[in-house]
Amino acid sequence: MAVIVQKYGGTSVGSIERIFQVAKRVAKTAAAGNQVAVVVSAMGDTTDELLALAKQIMPNPPERELAMLLSTGEQVSIALVAMALTALGLEAVSFTGPQAGVKTKGSPLEAKIAAFEAERVKAALKAGKIAVVAGFQGSSPDGEIHTLGRGGSDTTAVALAAALKAQICEIYTDVDGVYTVDPRLVDHASKLAEITYDEMLEMASLGAKVLHPRAVECAKEHGVILHVRSSFHDNAGTLVKEVAEMEKEAAVRGIACDVDQVKIALRGVPDRPGVAARIFTAIGEAGINVDLIVQSLRRNGENDILFTIREEDFDKAIAILTPLTKEIGAKELLHQHNVAKISVIGAGMIHQAGVAAKMFAALGKAGINIEIISTSEIKISCLIAADRIQDAARAIHDYFQL
Ligand code: ADP
Ligand code: ASP
Ligand code: MG
Repeated sequence: MAVIVQKYGGTSVGSIERIFQVAKRVAKTAAAGNQVAVVVSAMGDTTDELLALAKQIMPNPPERELAMLLSTGEQVSIALVAMALTALGLEAVSFTGPQAGVKTKGSPLEAKIAAFEAERVKAALKAGKIAVVAGFQGSSPDGEIHTLGRGGSDTTAVALAAALKAQICEIYTDVDGVYTVDPRLVDHASKLAEITYDEMLEMASLGAKVLHPRAVECAKEHGVILHVRSSFHDNAGTLVKEVAEMEKEAAVRGIACDVDQVKIALRGVPDRPGVAARIFTAIGEAGINVDLIVQSLRRNGENDILFTIREEDFDKAIAILTPLTKEIGAKELLHQHNVAKISVIGAGMIHQAGVAAKMFAALGKAGINIEIISTSEIKISCLIAADRIQDAARAIHDYFQL
């Protein structure tokens, strides 16, 4: 008997009607002779609403209490999905992350899964039940409820699929697969039949929120095949796996957009060894991820250092950098919110010259200014004005004829 893990995102469990649709799909999969474990997100915009409630109390709530609050969203969905399955005549049992055996490490709001001890889930499946597991949460070594970061239910599903040695992990969402670019930004984006783990990991890390980056990492590590598809119909979606069979090494497979960026600039930083290390160590120790970094040419023994961080880390970063600016003797700390990152991704880029030039040409032709550039073997990212992101996505998409 094959084991199948199905994960349903917020929109897919957004109402009682949709929860019944989910239950029917699960019932159909079980009736075809499979053991089914289901992972669910919080209903609709619940997580955002809970966050907004907390912010009404205080701007920076204690992380422990925020994790406690956010984890309730998924707990509502598991109970309702288990009830809907029961109403359809199936045997179902819900589990919170800690009950399902999700052991986490790291910070309360950006915890990582250290282990998935899935004995209770396995026993439920063996007893002929559908297991319904809360995504996005687990318990820390000292028994606290921790959450896995926004979008983290995908990672719960993949880790469960690995623990159960599932045949496939199906990610049901509100789009019918992974597209060359967010179909909400470019209406003529194309759906990909397949994509490799490495390309998907870059897309996800660079802002294509259709999959949580750690879910892709975990899938690659354990060889879990992902099928990203719509919860609204039965059409095939996109397979994420080791080697995509189509033209294997496309120079550009897709585009990722991230409007969730803030640019920070330290002006007039004394040009001394160790200064950059001090800045980025302080930022790193606070758990803030730094993205694009540039240092300007030296002038009069001084440099300017620019980098980007995520919007949600902004308050924390300013609190650290304000005193540090004085300590290292830099002249000014500046920031800019209305910036966005656009990236092109493709494993075939390694073997093809000129991809960067084409990307810049596409942006130039559309009259879009590039502020910072960063490249790796399979991606090129540019920082641009946030209000030009849709134009940029269209221009690049059309230039590369994706
Ligand atoms: P869920 O709640 O099901 O986890 P998410 O909102 O997290 O759904 O992810 C799905 C969304 O990801 C889509 O609605 C789409 O706007 C966005 N998205 C961004 N980039 C892409 C892409 N390349 N392909 C498909 N969807 C994308
Ligand atoms: N509910 C969480 C969020 O909105 C986790 C998830 O949906 O994956 O980020
Ligand atoms: Mg998601």
